[in-house]
Order: sequence, then structure tokens, then C-alpha cells
Amino acid sequence: MRDWLAHRVRASPDALALVDADSSREWSFRDLDDAVETTSRRLAGLGVEPGDHVGVLMETRPAFVRLVFAAQRVGATLVPLNARLAPAELAGQVETADVHVVVTEAESETDAVEAAGEVPVASVDAPDHEGVDALDAHDAAVPEPDRSVSDALALMFTSGTTGDPKAVRLTHANFLAAAAASAFRLGALPDDRWLCPLSMYHMGGLSIVLRSVLYGTTAVVQRGFDAARTLHNLDAHDCTGVSLVPTMLRRMLDAGEFPDSLRFALVGGAPTPVELREDAVSRGVPVHPSYGMTEAASQIATGTPAETEAAPDSVGRPLMGYDVTVAGPEGELPAGEVGAIHVAGPSITPGYYDAPEANADAFTRHGFDTGDAGYIDASGRLHVLNRQSDRIITGGENVHPAEVLDVLRDHPAVTEAAVVGLDDPEWGERVAALVVPEGETDADEIRAFCRERLAGYKVPRTVAFADDLPRTASGTVDRAAVREALAAAADV
Ligand code: ATP
Ligand code: MG
Repeated sequence: MRDWLAHRVRASPDALALVDADSSREWSFRDLDDAVETTSRRLAGLGVEPGDHVGVLMETRPAFVRLVFAAQRVGATLVPLNARLAPAELAGQVETADVHVVVTEAESETDAVEAAGEVPVASVDAPDHEGVDALDAHDAAVPEPDRSVSDALALMFTSGTTGDPKAVRLTHANFLAAAAASAFRLGALPDDRWLCPLSMYHMGGLSIVLRSVLYGTTAVVQRGFDAARTLHNLDAHDCTGVSLVPTMLRRMLDAGEFPDSLRFALVGGAPTPVELREDAVSRGVPVHPSYGMTEAASQIATGTPAETEAAPDSVGRPLMGYDVTVAGPEGELPAGEVGAIHVAGPSITPGYYDAPEANADAFTRHGFDTGDAGYIDASGRLHVLNRQSDRIITGGENVHPAEVLDVLRDHPAVTEAAVVGLDDPEWGERVAALVVPEGETDADEIRAFCRERLAGYKVPRTVAFADDLPRTASGTVDRAAVREALAAAADV
């Protein structure tokens, strides 16, 4: 199966394939197949050959969906590029991923030209910039590609949280397996409509579109995110599923009510705080916390509401077909012990693109090393604490910031907190906490509270207060800035 849409249109031509939530335009699989055939001819006309890498720089919209399946039809590999990156960063990705052509849209045209260098740029909109071609101006017959399921369907970049984004090679077989495993956990029903408020250059967004063609269900796409519009689209288009990151869920709960049509809200990309999950569940939102990553073509473990009720801070059990191993320096660890999360399974990447050193580090005898720390509880549910690289080593003992945070969050005068390691001449590192207080407290009192609940070496030696936690552009806690603030506070 190398052209999924061609198979799908034979199986259910009249089923609803795609809805553009912003314009309410709809495409059956037959309509989508016609549109994709046209886009495939455009790509062929542009000179795209089987095996070429097609960069796509745009936000979520139907034209992106067409490009995904047109790239597959011509036998090319899709390279989604993050439209929020600066041109210099994009230029690096175009080079790293050996992109042959960049297809963009009006809003990203200038960035695309700057990033592409010698690589040709075509736009799905009317071009308004020298050096940009209209994609529609091209037309050529599509050659029958000779490709197999082990060829790359996409090179996807990771988010770059722990360093430069890495280009992950993901095959047709990887995405097929990921879609199957997701359906084995969430179910796939004929009338399912899955809303995609995420960018398609991240795994959470792209995989909605790929799954719906495999399942014969409907992908509802919207451009960008805002809470009120997303709630409106869920309701207006009778959506049964939605993928969200936790901050989106928070904002949507603050903005209004979720419709009853929803069968699942898949919430991943970052930990779902227990209070957020409880708040959502109490308001009838079927939250399925999920742990996934680009290298796994999305989910590794996903908790059903019933499963996570019993273990509110877990991400549920691994999906069918995945082996999750928690390992320490001495090897595999028993249930309950915190270590490095490794995973083996059918959707795990065969490797980063053209990166032998990164691949040598990432693949171990326990499977793919996720870089995350966590544990498996006695009933087989996975708990993800934090990145392995956020681990603090103090006097030879490991401390995971998440363990300390859990205790701090229970303190009545703590709204939010961040825990990092500071260099320490005696212990190597020492645990430090930046706390956003609410009401009366001080450092001594917070330490005393922690001492009653944590091993001595886990108790923050440095505690400082701030009005807000420093955050990165994407809204995650800026750990480097937290470290600086704490180091400055520790000096006085
Ligand atoms: P990079 O690999 O470049 O540092 P990244 O790891 O942030 O970037 P992604 O593949 O987008 O890139 O994100 C996957 C990571 O997101 C996981 O390794 C994990 O750290 C985090 N994550 C995803 N889901 C969860 C979850 N439910 N709970 C905790 N962490 C999660
Ligand atoms: Mg990663």
C-alpha cells in the first residue's frame, strides 16, 4: 500500500474525507482524490521525482492535506517545515533534510525564499515575491513510482526542546502501524470526525490527517488555535475526537463548554497536570492523556478515562505492540523505579536522517532511548516524570524535578513552581525551586513542608520567589531562565 488515498477512494468514495472548519468546505474521498491527482501533476510538473524530498512550509489548511497525499502519490518524501521558525533556522532544516523543492503559501513566502537558497520555491497561493513560482502553473504526467512501505513517507523535525531539532525518518509502515495502534486503543468508528487544531508540521497534527484516510473517517482542519473558535468548530462540525496540548485544553475549559458529541480528547505533547485532567473530566470531557513523540509517529501510551481515574498522573498503558522498558545504568528496572524510558514498537523510526552518531546513541539493547525519565507502576501504567536531561544529580543521588514539584504543588501557598539543579561545590548539584506564591509563606516553611514528604537530598536547598515563571515562546517553562533567577537569588 503505497498510495493510501487511491485505496481509500476505491473502498469508500462517497464518505466525507475532509472539512475545512474555517470555510465549511467539504470533500468526499472522491473529491479529495481528484484534488490530489491535480496536485500530484503540479508536483511532477515542478520536477519532483520519486524519492525527492518535498519541503512544505505552511499552516494547517486543505492545501497542506492535498500535498501530503500528492507527495505520497508521486513517491516523494514529505518534509514539513515549522512555519514559526526564523528563516535562518529553516535554512538549516532545508539543508539537513536535503530538500529538493519548497512548497509554501502567501503568509510564509518571504521566509521560504530566504530559507530555500538555491532550492526552488512554489506557492499554493498567487505568488507575490520574486523567485516564487505558482504551483498551479505546472503540470506533467505522474510517473508510476516504484516505492515500498519501508521508504520514508516523511522526514519530520522534532521540536528542538533539548537541542537542535532532529530530522526523523518515518516510513509508510511506521505510520500504518501508528494508525493501527491508535485505533486499537481509541477505536475508529465510521462517523468519526477528528478535529485538527494543531500544526501539521508537528506529529500530532499530521497524524490526524494520515489516520483519517486509512480509517475512512473525516479530518476537520482549522488554521491556528484559539479557544473559542476551537470549541465552536467541535460543535458546529459534530466532532467526535480532537487532539490538544495541555495548554489548549486549559484555555478551552476557561472559554466555554465542550460539546457532547466528543468521544475522546487526546491530550499530549507535555504532561497533563492532575488538576487539569480532573477539571476536564468533571465537566464531561473524555480526556485521554497521551505520551508520544515524533520518533514514534505519535502515541506510545494513551490512558483511557477509566485507566487514568485510578492513576491520575499516569499516561495509561503502552499501546498494543509496544514494549516500554525503564532502564538504569545497570539494566532494566523493576516496577516503581524511576529510570530512562525506552521503547520498541512498529511505529518507531528506523533512525534520524543522515545522523549516524545520533542513531548510535538513540538505539540501545532496551530499544529506542526516548530521553525521558519515568516509571511503570505495578499495574503496568506508564508515568512520565521529565526529560532525562532535567534530572538533578546531587551527591551521587538522582532527583527528578517532577517528584519535588508534586510535593510543592500540594503546598497551599504555592500556585506554580519550577525545580532545577544549580552547580554546587560540595554536592555537584543542588536542588533549587522557584516558587510563585499565593498568600503567606517563606523559604524555611517551604523546606520544612518538603522535608516531611521527601528524602533529605530531594529537599530544595535554594528556594526563591517570583510573580511568574519565565516561559519560552511556545509557553513551556524556560529552564535556563529559571536557573539564572535561582543562581542570582542564591548569591544574595
Ligand atoms: P527534541 O527531541 O528536539 O528535544 P521534543 O522531544 O520536544 O524535541 P517532540 O517529539 O515534539 O520533540 O516531543 C516529544 C516529547 O514531548 C517527549 O519525549 C516528552 O518529553 C514530551 N511529552 C510528550 N507527551 C508527554 C506526556 N504526556 N507527558 C510528559 N511528557 C510528554
Ligand atoms: Mg525528543
